Amino acid sequence: MNTYRITVLKGDGIGPEIVDEAMKVLNKVSEKFGFGVQYTEALLGGSAIDAVGEPLPQETIDKCKASDAVLLGAVGGPKWDNLQGDKRPEAGLLGIRAALGLFANLRPAVIFAPLKDASPIRPEIIGDSLDVMVVRELTGGIYFGDRGRETVDGVESAYDTERYSVPEIERIARIGFEMAKKRNGKLCSVDKANVLESSRLWRATVARIGEEYPEVELTNMYVDNCAMQLVRNPGQFDVLLTSNIFGDILSDEASMISGSIGMLSSASLGENKFGLYEPIHGSAPDIAGTGMANPLATILSVAMMLRYTLDEQKAAQAIEDAVAEALKTNRTPDIYVEGTKKVTCAEMGDAVCALI
Ligand code: NAD
Repeated sequence: MNTYRITVLKGDGIGPEIVDEAMKVLNKVSEKFGFGVQYTEALLGGSAIDAVGEPLPQETIDKCKASDAVLLGAVGGPKWDNLQGDKRPEAGLLGIRAALGLFANLRPAVIFAPLKDASPIRPEIIGDSLDVMVVRELTGGIYFGDRGRETVDGVESAYDTERYSVPEIERIARIGFEMAKKRNGKLCSVDKANVLESSRLWRATVARIGEEYPEVELTNMYVDNCAMQLVRNPGQFDVLLTSNIFGDILSDEASMISGSIGMLSSASLGENKFGLYEPIHGSAPDIAGTGMANPLATILSVAMMLRYTLDEQKAAQAIEDAVAEALKTNRTPDIYVEGTKKVTCAEMGDAVCALI
């Protein structure tokens, strides 16, 4: 029997509540599908500051590196808001991503049929369902390129540089193609190759890597057109492959299509399938401890972990199916509508487990 080592970073605010439900669900699928899970807890964010005086203790990095995958709740809260930049809980978040070499960010934009009305996109545009995955390069491009300011003849200017090397493009392209292979076999690479030299290298490199994946249909789209197509006809997309800056913008646009922040999971991947899985929302201090938090983004993050790092496809599918089924009747307050049953965070976790 496979036993997976999972480091759990519950974090702050609603973090511990939502992660507890996600672990409950992971335990349930592990029993059903015959694999073991060994948890190690570690501190991150405000709880780490309170315990040891820094948001990212070395022990946390070591524990994460010694595991197969990391499950993270959320960090931050008003208690630590007056601290300086690198002492803040959020510094722990950026620090752990960097320390683990996570270069690919995956954000699915999914609409479960019972939540169609929560989307700002009209139901006839969404169709029966919507499932788009944005694969974003996370550690290169303009956010990490040369930058500066200079004043020439009394005129001040500033610059930021978009630079991508072939190996950087190759490794993110492979993640994109692998993803498309596991999904519906369609990869759309996003660039601005009509204007940018870095995009022309991006497009040529992605095409070359694509030759290794004949089963995946590769298309290219300019980023401005892609931004429009995401709201005009989002159902045409399966996997979107993007640079850092284009993915930053498009993944926010795509995630809004699904309506509720409490539903959105994410993954950050490094080499050898290692990954950190977390909901995209924050620590929601306004509802922490009230039982009102929606645990589904974190539960769906566990499904991503099973799919993309642990390769337990059936268990991943079982969770996603159970979430879709649970939503037909059970709703946490953030997604509640009349005619459904209002449930707490723990009750939602129980409902998902009961349907697995
Ligand atoms: P937030 O995502 O925590 O909350 C925004 C709103 O969404 C709030 O009204 C909250 O109640 C609601 N919400 C969020 N998650 C929910 C859930 N699962 N169920 C139900 N409702 C939910 O963003 P914020 O208020 O801007 O930030 C709060 C704290 O979280 C800050 O300290 C911020 O820095 C931190 N933060 C952390 C992360 C992270 O850990 N990845 C991400 C964003 C913000």
